[in-house]
Amino acid sequence: MTFDAPTKMQFVYTLRSKGVTDARVLTAMEQVDRAAYVKGIFADRAYEDMPLPIASGQTISQPSVVGLMTQALKVGPRDKVLEIGTGSGYQAAILSKLARRVYTVERFRSLVHAARATFDEQGISNITTFTADGSFGLPEQAPFDRILLTAAAEDPPGPLLAQLRVGGIMVLPVGQSDTVQSLIRVTRHETGYEYDELRAVRFVPLLEGLGQE
Ligand code: SAH
Repeated sequence: MTFDAPTKMQFVYTLRSKGVTDARVLTAMEQVDRAAYVKGIFADRAYEDMPLPIASGQTISQPSVVGLMTQALKVGPRDKVLEIGTGSGYQAAILSKLARRVYTVERFRSLVHAARATFDEQGISNITTFTADGSFGLPEQAPFDRILLTAAAEDPPGPLLAQLRVGGIMVLPVGQSDTVQSLIRVTRHETGYEYDELRAVRFVPLLEGLGQE
């Protein structure tokens, strides 16, 4: 199966029916072929609205959840975006179509290498990858206009709140692993942080340190 016009139409139809309505986000999702990020035996299921297994025991998120999170982040064309949890690189690729530059951090070195290779192969040149524990963010590159976490923290990590620009937005799942988590949006104002709860989600936990390959 290829990401041809009828497949794209069906893919976008499903996204819309799940609440992804932002035209820029839908266009970005039409530009990124999810099969390039899934790879291997599950690649032929890449256009279904399901999370799928990737290497290192991790998962690529469900497309509609990627769409809803991206939409909640309200990314603009001049934004500098930080993503924590590169995984396959799919979410970062979508952000790269909407933002000026994307910095993405992953704790498994092998996943970073695979994602890097896919970005190169797909001709994406505005993503910078890092192997690190993303809980600490990237102090050298801060501040960020937008921050997205694709692994669930118990609470929003302090270093990430600090690295968000005033006026910036961070979207993240919070809660204990294996229970229902909430997707929340944090907006930084001059005077403090505003928190909105968006919906229930389920993500892998944000873990400490580098991944053991
Ligand atoms: N955004 C990914 C899906 C990510 S799954 C995609 O589009 O495919 C969550 C990822 O977060 C996993 O790859 C996991 O290894 C990573 N992760 C978990 N804790 C982390 C941490 N502290 N720092 C960086 N990455 C982390």
